[in-house]
Amino acid sequence: MDVQNIRKDFPILSQKIYGHDLVYLDNAATTQKPQCVLDSIMKFYTQYNSNIHRGVHYLSEKATEIYEAARLKVKDFINAKSRTEIVFTKGSTEAINMLAYSFGEAYVQTGDEIIVSEMEHHSNIVPWQLMCGRKGAKLKVLPFNDKGELLTAELGKIITPKTKLICVTYVSNTLGTINPVQGIIYQAHLHGIPVLVDAAQAIQHVKIDVQKLDCDFLALSGHKIYAETGIGVLYAKEDYLDKMPPYQGGGDMIKNVSFDGSTWAELPLKFEAGTSNFVGAGSLHAALDYVETIGLSNIAEYEKQLLDYASQKISSIDGITIYGNASKKASIISFNINGAHHYDVGMVLDKLGIAVRTGTHCTEPIMKHYSITGTVRASFAMYNTFEEIDVLVEGIKKAKKMLVN
Ligand code: PLP
Repeated sequence: MDVQNIRKDFPILSQKIYGHDLVYLDNAATTQKPQCVLDSIMKFYTQYNSNIHRGVHYLSEKATEIYEAARLKVKDFINAKSRTEIVFTKGSTEAINMLAYSFGEAYVQTGDEIIVSEMEHHSNIVPWQLMCGRKGAKLKVLPFNDKGELLTAELGKIITPKTKLICVTYVSNTLGTINPVQGIIYQAHLHGIPVLVDAAQAIQHVKIDVQKLDCDFLALSGHKIYAETGIGVLYAKEDYLDKMPPYQGGGDMIKNVSFDGSTWAELPLKFEAGTSNFVGAGSLHAALDYVETIGLSNIAEYEKQLLDYASQKISSIDGITIYGNASKKASIISFNINGAHHYDVGMVLDKLGIAVRTGTHCTEPIMKHYSITGTVRASFAMYNTFEEIDVLVEGIKKAKKMLVN
């Protein structure tokens, strides 16, 4: 990988922050955008802007073409069977809320159970709590060990005849763990239980083939894979989408409307009420093309080198605790300087031009597991360099000197 050339594609990276070169290590929160993605947005608004699916005029047809081509791109990128299985959403959060509502209405009764893991993002906990509250169902938790690995052997004890769905993140946004989702899905299917994979942190690091995984549902966010914010996907097997009721009502999702009742549009539009983010969909298409040009396996290999280098360098500083040492990890590293508050560390790093995230990372149950209030999280993307990790390491040493007596 020619990282210096890749960096030239991301205009934001050449900035100075407080007089320092920007070192952007907050990629798990959102990724920066390459010029081709920015161009796709500009081109849409300067040449094609028009609402989709509703017009017979040239611009509307062109906009619809771009939107539906993006759907096909996503279908191919995750190897779904059909374009009808790709529902565009605002992001992973909306995808999971949509599923929690529609799946809950179709399949969940009082006394049923939903399993989530202890390392889920709040987006894959709270929608299920809301649904359980509505339906009188119960949320059960698959725990992880102190290395940050799911105790998948416990699954057999947690599953009961009442279990309706298992929800698990592919990659933990806090611990970096790459979970053995294929095994979990296999085990769940032995009991006839469908599985939702939260791929918000996986799509940009791991090659995903939904047919090979055989997951029933998968959620992803465009902005985590170099596309615009406000576009994401719920992948669902067609049979489920057929049987689930719509999440929201409005334009585009209906076949006919009368005061006696309404009928729904064909899949996947039944789940896409209102004006969709068609510009975002186009930007996702451009981003996926870009990632494919570089090659996801090349990206993953390079990011693994960055992670190994950073883990070795950071752990060699005295008085550092790293959270999450799973045997399979994506390029995310959470740590604390013992005796310093994560927020203060983040502030010191910021003044050096280093962008990291501090806090709970929307995973309060993980914080509870380790009895901490938060961590500092550095997360790497394909455009990060070993030199930037050196800058981070020097920054951590400086913060330690300032904050710890
Ligand atoms: N799931 C995981 C694992 C995440 O890391 C995130 C965001 O950080 C989400 C879900 C929610 O994604 P979004 O905010 O794009 O909807």
